[in-house]
Amino acid sequence: MLKAVGVSFGIAIGKALVISDEVVEVKKSKVSDSKGEVARFDNALKEAISELEKMVEGVKEKLGNEKAEIFEAHLCMLEDPEFIGAIQKKIDDEMVSAEYSLQTVSTETAAVFENMDNEYMKERAVDIRDVSKRVMNILMGIKVASIADIQDECILVARDLTPSDTAQIDKEKVLAFVTEIGGRTAHTSIIARSLELPAVVGAGSDIHQIKDGDLIIVDGEEGLVIIKPDEKTLNEYKIKREEFIESKHQLLKYATMSSITTDGKKVEIAANIGSAADLGAVLKNGAEAIGLFRTEFLYMANDALPTEEEQFVEYKSVLEKMNGKPVIIRTLDIGGDKKLDYLPMDEEMNPFLGYRAIRLCLDRTDIFKTQLRALVRASAFGKLKIMFPMICNIQELRAAKKLLEECTKELKSEGVTFDEKIEVGIMIEIPSAAIISDVLAKEVDFFSIGTNDLIQYTLAVDRMNEKISYLYDFYHPAVLRLIKIVIDNGHKAGITVNMCGEMAGDANLIPVLLGFGLDEFSMSAASILRARKTITNSSFKECEKLSEPVLTFGDADEIKDYIKANIKA
Ligand code: PEP
Ligand code: MG
Repeated sequence: MLKAVGVSFGIAIGKALVISDEVVEVKKSKVSDSKGEVARFDNALKEAISELEKMVEGVKEKLGNEKAEIFEAHLCMLEDPEFIGAIQKKIDDEMVSAEYSLQTVSTETAAVFENMDNEYMKERAVDIRDVSKRVMNILMGIKVASIADIQDECILVARDLTPSDTAQIDKEKVLAFVTEIGGRTAHTSIIARSLELPAVVGAGSDIHQIKDGDLIIVDGEEGLVIIKPDEKTLNEYKIKREEFIESKHQLLKYATMSSITTDGKKVEIAANIGSAADLGAVLKNGAEAIGLFRTEFLYMANDALPTEEEQFVEYKSVLEKMNGKPVIIRTLDIGGDKKLDYLPMDEEMNPFLGYRAIRLCLDRTDIFKTQLRALVRASAFGKLKIMFPMICNIQELRAAKKLLEECTKELKSEGVTFDEKIEVGIMIEIPSAAIISDVLAKEVDFFSIGTNDLIQYTLAVDRMNEKISYLYDFYHPAVLRLIKIVIDNGHKAGITVNMCGEMAGDANLIPVLLGFGLDEFSMSAASILRARKTITNSSFKECEKLSEPVLTFGDADEIKDYIKANIKA
């Protein structure tokens, strides 16, 4: 049995599908029969081509022609006489193994592409590596599973799943997942919650105890993975799974209620989404708004920067489906743990402290303005609010607003109609922004506290690192005090203060946040019903009184004990 971090509730029982991402380093080795070795390479090549042809067909059928283009490009590479000829020639001339020749030629070719000036050509290096890995795996007899191509029900077991891996998950087939690294607020965990898939992350090297095909149980609440359970345990968990489904069903009555406390205070429970596809669960659970649309997932699901038109269609569709309810769309927040294959960025020592979000957008105004134009155009179709991420000073906010103004002017002169009063807000997720929130509040319409980052930056704890996840603490007094400062400063300036970090959905903390005066709680769709149950059963006045002493404690454990003893979730 493994104990790690449970990040998405639910019980799953199924066969493990172990995804290996090991990079194999091939040593130089000589062969005596170079002709035979070339033939071995040619056979592997044929197999890779046939695999890719099948993928092109499958992807075209499931996801459309555009998504298949990447695999078509890979096919072209395997049919390129220059690239393939160089590998065959090296085997023949130098009497080396097919693996070694493939590794050397593909590394050299990828480096040539990488050093080109043209962005498009640079990106081809990724494809060369990818397609060469496919042939290498065949040569070495390594079986790799592709997430996009899973045929049978399974539980994914991997070192890590990138947000783009998770975006490809087919919920009909994938029952749960377990990863070696990651923490509660890593984006992979956030996607698990929005997919309502049980997940356990940060299992460390113990994960290697799970072998491909093993029957496993994943308990996403307790953070447990039980490998090859005995009959008794299996039956126990089958019952637990039924109970979980039943309790979810019971909560459904909260879907149609308003979020009003017993003493009549109205707050908003909103949802966090990554695409229009997430709206099913959001509407089913009765979210009163979208508090955070993480637009970067739209960029990650693409093979190239999405055009203004593509973005406009997606934003419009979300606004229309929300039918006049407020939708906060956050501008691109790429960087940190979210990467775009087609937008190569320099390696950074500290990506979370680096070229990320608004910093990138203010540098790449071409990318930023394309998005802002799409947003402004979409505003005609619902109640859109625009939010800038990772603001750390007033200059960034002003620069972002200036670019937005440029876009509205352009669109106006083009005769486009849009909402002239789009509200503009910022995420408060950097301690500097929290501390000067009195200043920032004067120039925005709303705040949204991004606790996922606010915690990592306040406590200097990487949100991805399972070794120090014990330090990543919602209850740290510094975090709670900063939140209170932001709420008070926002209210003094007469603006609303929301929260869209994962803390907003934490049933134990909701009464405290309610007492602090938070206006909107935005969370994964899966947390909405529990949150509404808590709010509709709480008295605002009581929460206010109970939350006051929280700010006097200096120790997170004291705060936890106090909440446990005094506040009923
Ligand atoms: C946050 O930092 O709390 C947040 C909501 O943004 P993200 O998780 O996308 O960084
Ligand atoms: Mg953030």
